[in-house]
Amino acid sequence: MVSTPDDAEVSVEAVPTRYGDVTFRSRLEADWAATLDGNGIRWEYEPETITLGSGTLYLPDFWLPELGTWIEVKGPGIPRTEKTDELARTRACRCVTPCTCQWPAGEFVLLGRPSLASDRTEPGRRPRSGYANWETPFGPTAYFVTCPACARAQWITLRRPWRCRACHALLERERLYRPVDRFVRFVESSTRMGLFAMPDLGEPFTDVELGPTGFPDPVGG
Ligand SMILES: [Zn+2]
Ligand SMILES: [Zn+2]
Repeated sequence: MVSTPDDAEVSVEAVPTRYGDVTFRSRLEADWAATLDGNGIRWEYEPETITLGSGTLYLPDFWLPELGTWIEVKGPGIPRTEKTDELARTRACRCVTPCTCQWPAGEFVLLGRPSLASDRTEPGRRPRSGYANWETPFGPTAYFVTCPACARAQWITLRRPWRCRACHALLERERLYRPVDRFVRFVESSTRMGLFAMPDLGEPFTDVELGPTGFPDPVGG
């Protein structure tokens, strides 16, 4: 077992962090595990070493077995994502419409990023660091959505038809969220003082709490 230095002032990328029964390679990975738990998303950590088409071995961070989705957690800065990109291209489906894959459009690959940084400091307001941030390694934006049929939270792209990755229900009428919408709360595993029950995320911060975001109101205000 790798010990966890509680007071180390080091990069979130470098500190092995215990969360639940797993020692993660970094605090950011542990935070992503806590965030997945907080959204009721089942995950497996480093379940499979994959041989990419180029022959390179690749060990992605998370597999979401109910969603057919991989998550590779990448720290701040401009990370190297060549392997993640190759995984995404390899596992995406090649169906001509309609897609007949178990997972709509094939397996999906998401890049898990550090939570959104505060873009300004306002006295008396909570910092804007409490929201999950993600990208795709190539291609379209990924949107967070909750399926009305099976209640599973997940990420999809706008490739139609928009179907739940778990139960294939249509999601055409559901609200989609981007990272900038600041809807998906990001859970910091290390603030839990070793008690890793299911995190209670509570309600998202309100617009009033957050102040102006600088982004247009997606509801059309
Ligand atoms: Zn397909
Ligand atoms: Zn569903």
